[in-house]
Amino acid sequence: MRTDLYTGHDYFNMDDLLTEEHKLIRDAAREWVKKEVSPIIEDAAENQVFPQHLLSGLGAIGAFGTYIPEQYGGSGLDQISYGLIMQELERCDSGLRSTASVQTSLVMYPIWKYGSEEQKMKYLPKLATGEWIGCFGLTEPDHGSNPGGMVTSYVEDGDDVILNGAKMWISNAPFAEIAVVWAKNEEGRIHGIIVERGMEGFSTPTMKGKWSLRASDTGELIFDNVRVPKSNILPEKSGLGAPLGCLDSARYGIAWGAIGAALDCYDTALRYSKERIQFGKPIAGFQLQQKKLAEMITEITKAQLLTLRLGQLRNEGKATSPQISMAKRNNVDMAITIAREARQMLGAMGIMNEYPIMRHMMNLESVITYEGTHDIHLLITGMDITGENAFK
Ligand SMILES: Cc1cc2nc3c(=O)[nH]c(=O)nc-3n(C[C@H](O)[C@H](O)[C@H](O)COP(=O)(O)OP(=O)(O)OC[C@H]3O[C@@H](n4cnc5c(N)ncnc54)[C@H](O)[C@@H]3O)c2cc1C
Repeated sequence: MRTDLYTGHDYFNMDDLLTEEHKLIRDAAREWVKKEVSPIIEDAAENQVFPQHLLSGLGAIGAFGTYIPEQYGGSGLDQISYGLIMQELERCDSGLRSTASVQTSLVMYPIWKYGSEEQKMKYLPKLATGEWIGCFGLTEPDHGSNPGGMVTSYVEDGDDVILNGAKMWISNAPFAEIAVVWAKNEEGRIHGIIVERGMEGFSTPTMKGKWSLRASDTGELIFDNVRVPKSNILPEKSGLGAPLGCLDSARYGIAWGAIGAALDCYDTALRYSKERIQFGKPIAGFQLQQKKLAEMITEITKAQLLTLRLGQLRNEGKATSPQISMAKRNNVDMAITIAREARQMLGAMGIMNEYPIMRHMMNLESVITYEGTHDIHLLITGMDITGENAFK
């Protein structure tokens, strides 16, 4: 294991646009990652397991419920703070960021925005500390890009509902205490419902065999006549717009996170290129290698500017879903391209787990697909600028 020497790259003095509080939050997250996660992340990825002892630390740095009000246990911070924490987590590993994204944007957000006061008081404080972990069940085996076609459904039975169906590819599912599940009622309308571990007929089998996001646990959610109290249904919003609202928050966090992965690949390649001698001089001195590095930092800088502006818009409540789609799509594509170039710059060493690049590259193959695929986000932009829907 190499020492984590990462220091950050800020070619356009972006720090001048951040507040002192933003920088403190980011630097605290960076230091925690370096001390607690960098030394163990390669083993976690090799062993295909999320290191659960990190959960309380993630809670302590504000990664769970960053922008959720303090009265519910959150940190009450702004959207840029949330983004900066996601950037620092994914700088280490996309799976680490995924765990935090799901908890904040896909579990705490819907309970905070669509839940009753009782639901907020019951779940949010424990989710904020990491005592409880949640997962988000939208995707089904036969419904990925088209979640509106879901077949998971429930029927009413007195004070309860009876839930049947299955969800697939669910991050955090194998160890989550609760699942925010999206299911259709008897009229076919989508509602969010909180399913708790231990409810009879509810199981969460682990999905093994991933070459990507190996340090994040992924599983299925199986509902076999699960009896859930009606009081667990999120009352304040229904329809497909409800889960899509959560995805806006998560995709925004991914846009920041992908910059982190790209920065780590760039940082590794830059450092290596100055140390690696071929033909009597550092490979950093060859034009072709400089072209790669110069293009990397240019693309990272463009993404940083785009994403900070998106954070400002989100703070003002003005960011649109298509704007978020554009940032998610651009930044993940940018990061995966940089990972591939950086891998080549390390030559054979680039494939080794002594360096983080292959792990980032493999992780980003999931990130480019989940929370809306690369293609679907392009079609969202296309629909926004033309008024024509090309994906239905
Ligand atoms: C590691 C991992 C973790 C995940 N975690 C979660 C989670 O926590 N919760 C959750 O609910 N889901 C989760 N997902 C699921 C993820 O959101 C879906 O995989 C994603 O939405 C794509 O669905 P799909 O895989 O079924 O692909 P499909 O929808 O089958 O798409 C296959 C291909 O067809 C293309 N395509 C589909 N429709 C169109 C169209 N109309 N026009 C043009 N091209 C199209 C897609 O772009 C893609 O390239 C996770 C996935 C992964 C890999």
